[in-house]
Amino acid sequence: MPVDNPTGSTDHLNGLEEVKLRIGKKGAMITIKSRREIEIMRDTSRIVAEVLNELRLCCKAGVTTLELDSIAEERTKKLGAEPAFKGYRGFPKALCTSINHQVVHGIPGNTILNEGDIISLDFGALYRSYFSDAALTVPIGAISPEVEKLLRITEECLYLGIEKLLPDNHLSDLSRAIQTHAESNGFSLVKEFGGHGIGRRLHEDPMVLNYVSNGRGIKLRPGLVLAIEPMVNMGADEVQILSDGWTVVTLDGKPSAHFEHTVAITDNGPEILTKVA
Ligand code: MG
Repeated sequence: MPVDNPTGSTDHLNGLEEVKLRIGKKGAMITIKSRREIEIMRDTSRIVAEVLNELRLCCKAGVTTLELDSIAEERTKKLGAEPAFKGYRGFPKALCTSINHQVVHGIPGNTILNEGDIISLDFGALYRSYFSDAALTVPIGAISPEVEKLLRITEECLYLGIEKLLPDNHLSDLSRAIQTHAESNGFSLVKEFGGHGIGRRLHEDPMVLNYVSNGRGIKLRPGLVLAIEPMVNMGADEVQILSDGWTVVTLDGKPSAHFEHTVAITDNGPEILTKVA
């Protein structure tokens, strides 16, 4: 689940950068995890990956998003964990289901999946006091070549960003890799939402922008655990929130894709915790 970018769009980049630097200098908001904590997060992440993998296989024409939500909740509890999103800031369900032009935060309901749709599944779990968060966009049957490209490029953005999570790199190295790949393929990045630190809280500092702002961002170091989650639009980058207070949709009605992993930075580089084995 992405976190709000409090400054909204590109108009306030300077302000955002100042806030981020202040956070960095204070040092109090960004938590560096111990090896033990990362071990627990590995377990939480395995649960998230397992649930998402099961959901992916259930995404077929005729299935409702509410059915997917029930599967997610039941499976999570069976594995001894709690769904992280249910009740988070009042979100009513365990899973976010965002179809076609819905970007993120779609609420499961009676909507039926149809052949040719895409659905973004965003899921988080809480296990032994630690959160993990991941997402993927799944095609329902055959989809158009353009939408197929959107999914492929968005997932590639995720992995190109993760490759930059090396000790002594800066957070902007990741942002640049993601932005360059999406835009050079003719797509745009959602700027109102971004990735985030994660640990004992679902959303921790720093915010992880999917586009380059001023400055280099914080310096990366082992022990940082980040949820990386590019949201890529086929058309323009503008989005709006529907009257349910949650569902984010593209303003131009064109499709959007979302892929996310929870990643720990180690001495040897990034370790994707939510990867399906
Ligand atoms: Mg997230």
